[in-house]
Amino acid sequence: MTELAVGEQVAVDPSLHCGECYQCKRARGNLCENWNAIGVTRPGGAAEFALAPVANCFRLPEGVNVADAALIEPLSCAVRGFDVLPRRLADHYLIYGAGTMGLMMMELAKRAGAASVSMVDINPARLETARLLGCSAAVTSADELVAPRGWDVVVDCTGVEAAITDGLGRVGKGGTFLQFGVASYGARAVIEPYKIYNQEITITGSMAVLHSFDRAGELWAGGLLDAEVFVSHHYPLDDYAKAMGQFREGVGRKIVIEP
Ligand SMILES: [Zn+2]
Repeated sequence: MTELAVGEQVAVDPSLHCGECYQCKRARGNLCENWNAIGVTRPGGAAEFALAPVANCFRLPEGVNVADAALIEPLSCAVRGFDVLPRRLADHYLIYGAGTMGLMMMELAKRAGAASVSMVDINPARLETARLLGCSAAVTSADELVAPRGWDVVVDCTGVEAAITDGLGRVGKGGTFLQFGVASYGARAVIEPYKIYNQEITITGSMAVLHSFDRAGELWAGGLLDAEVFVSHHYPLDDYAKAMGQFREGVGRKIVIEP
């Protein structure tokens, strides 16, 4: 029995949690000991046809641009990131990395009632996009910003050691640092344990998607993201290799493959 009918358009949460392991039974399926995902550890959607469990399907509203709905998956990771943040009204946010994920975190922070959202990136074109989308400040170094009390929420969306260490040092009293960007395995950042203790600083991470896909779909359907900004290229399936090459070179933002 399912609410979905043949012919309906859906977006697919790629997560495949086993439902049996220690983590799944504690409602932490994103940390599943047998974690799999369609397109990551299983054959994926870069095909004309793909199979997905009905529970992983989010029904798309009628009349939407289906290709743009590919943004729901990365957005669902950003929504998960917000689930581990305190989400207080009027917090000041500092986000490292103004790529697609950093910009998604920025849009969510604005919606979540941030008093300010400042963006740090070394790429001027990315900073320009962040400005276009209405961030409070867009700079190449947080040294350019005035924040004597530090920031309530600092989010790393770069995975770069230097940025992470810099961000950890800028969390204000009672603030939270979220490791959202994927650092290389074994990367090291510096923390100041006295400050963590004395200023009650929280350091946390968020991994992939956890009960956040449907909510990302609702936000997407409500127009949270301007697809013109977030999707820079569309390729047919035959140009998959070309699209991957472009991704590796860091050109553009999200690339949509249209089978
Ligand atoms: Zn599991």
